[in-house]
Amino acid sequence: MGKIYIIDVTNRDGVQTAKLGLCKLEKTMMNVYLNEMGVFQSEFGFPTTRHESHYLRANLELAKMGVLQPIRLEGWMRAIAEDVETCFRLVPEIKHLNLSISTSDQMITGKFLGKKNQQDIVNMMVEAVDAARALGAETVGVNAEDGSRTSLEFLVRFGTEAREHGAARLRYCDSLGYDSPFTIYETARALAENVGLPVEIHCHGDLGMAVANSVAGAKGVIDGGQDAYINTTVNGIGERAGNADLVAVLLAVTKAKGFGGKYQLGSEMDLSKSWRIARFASYAFGVPIPINQPGVGANAFAHASGIHADGVLKDPDNYELYGFEELGRGEPELVETGREICTGRYGGISGFRHVMNEIMGEEAVHFNDPDEAERVLELVRYANVLAQKPLVEDELLFVAKYPEIARQLLTTTPLDY
Ligand SMILES: [Zn+2]
Repeated sequence: MGKIYIIDVTNRDGVQTAKLGLCKLEKTMMNVYLNEMGVFQSEFGFPTTRHESHYLRANLELAKMGVLQPIRLEGWMRAIAEDVETCFRLVPEIKHLNLSISTSDQMITGKFLGKKNQQDIVNMMVEAVDAARALGAETVGVNAEDGSRTSLEFLVRFGTEAREHGAARLRYCDSLGYDSPFTIYETARALAENVGLPVEIHCHGDLGMAVANSVAGAKGVIDGGQDAYINTTVNGIGERAGNADLVAVLLAVTKAKGFGGKYQLGSEMDLSKSWRIARFASYAFGVPIPINQPGVGANAFAHASGIHADGVLKDPDNYELYGFEELGRGEPELVETGREICTGRYGGISGFRHVMNEIMGEEAVHFNDPDEAERVLELVRYANVLAQKPLVEDELLFVAKYPEIARQLLTTTPLDY
């Protein structure tokens, strides 16, 4: 029986959301947290976009160092052979790719303006897959963008051609959030049965069904005899109404009636990291977590009405489906209410040392010499310039621990190619 794997696309779909973004250190921290959580793969960026190059290479180096292991780092681009070539020129060490092209009649007439037909779409995709394989990609996924408005017949043809050219997965994109759980189940099952590849389920929330559709789609893929890969983003942040929320998908897969215990995750996931990653994404994107967000919202375990409060005090199972501890909640959070020393772009060495001592304890900070502390502080200054907000503790520790990686992440050199 097939299993469910998570491919998180926060660092691609999430960061291409209008009005939002992450700096390269924040994107790196997302990969670190996703890895700690046990997420199978992070779609970590755009290899053909030049300001991503240093970040992508630095993260591949972290993977080599064992810091970003076992998570897979995969880059996303258009299914165009030229893009694949650019990708390998800018990020030669990359091993996993997803290649995307629109497949629906709407896009063929409305976007390609009749200049391309279905055969052209297949040809472009196949050439891109061939190029990726020839240049050393270990796994290639192909994305049928606007898949939910594409005929099943063409999706099967598209996926079959991809498989014959060595693609590892077909991504079915409900790009506009048009599916319902009923339709996506049928389509996903048919694709698994007829294409003979594992299928990725990529859903959006335009009709409020991204998580439900993801779970139904995954069930369809598994019932069709293949592994299912659900695409998520942290806090559901993504284009327009967003993507399937990572934590909500994990809760649904493991806890939903008739699902948990029957359909299983393929890699071990640590749900107790949910609180931390959701909080970090909220801070980094500058988007508050909705009060009623599943699992991580401020009210997810709050009870006020007499009947509920009485019930939950007698036995939490009366009114809670799962415990807050499972998600890593419940630790007291210290908020400074008196004097506060911060460090950042205009900070000096004594303030920096004070902050690092607060985080790590007096004994824990061992800079080899004053120069090393100065160098790390200089990196912290630059990181603060790019983030435009104070670094969180984990970021400060990351910069102190991996100064050379941080230097690469903070390096932006426009027009030097
Ligand atoms: Zn998307």
